[in-house]
Amino acid sequence: MLERLWRADKISHWVDGISLEMLYQSGKAGQVFMENLRDRGLLTLSKCLECGDAFCPPRIYCPSCMSSKIEYKTFDPVGYVELFTACRVDAYGQALEEPMLIALIRFQNVKGGLIHRVKEVSLDELHKGMKLEAVLKPREERRGSINDIQYFRPVRV
Ligand SMILES: [Zn+2]
Repeated sequence: MLERLWRADKISHWVDGISLEMLYQSGKAGQVFMENLRDRGLLTLSKCLECGDAFCPPRIYCPSCMSSKIEYKTFDPVGYVELFTACRVDAYGQALEEPMLIALIRFQNVKGGLIHRVKEVSLDELHKGMKLEAVLKPREERRGSINDIQYFRPVRV
């Protein structure tokens, strides 16, 4: 930042680096989710044994009734589009060669959902309710991260 700013309300954003080391803990439920994704290529939900509500990503308690009596269940990474958008510029304002499609993907009878990239479909074709499946990295490249899912794509029948 070379210019001196005199009014804080004129700052829109700046790009810089901060020397900082962080360790992000995904928590107990997050760890179960990431391990199942990495090791088995499956998503994980938490199902409440009191009210029956299910959540993905999983929680250690039920957000609906606050019960901690939950069980984890795995399921195939197939869901449907709830919402979507197209990003046309990157974080620095530079135009992308083609729009990056991002969707909120929900799962049948499960509350919550995942926000992830969508590929192998055009913006014109993408629509609410479209059935999507995850494209995973090869097992040996997975690291226990949401990016073990490369992207979602339409389920071809
Ligand atoms: Zn509950």
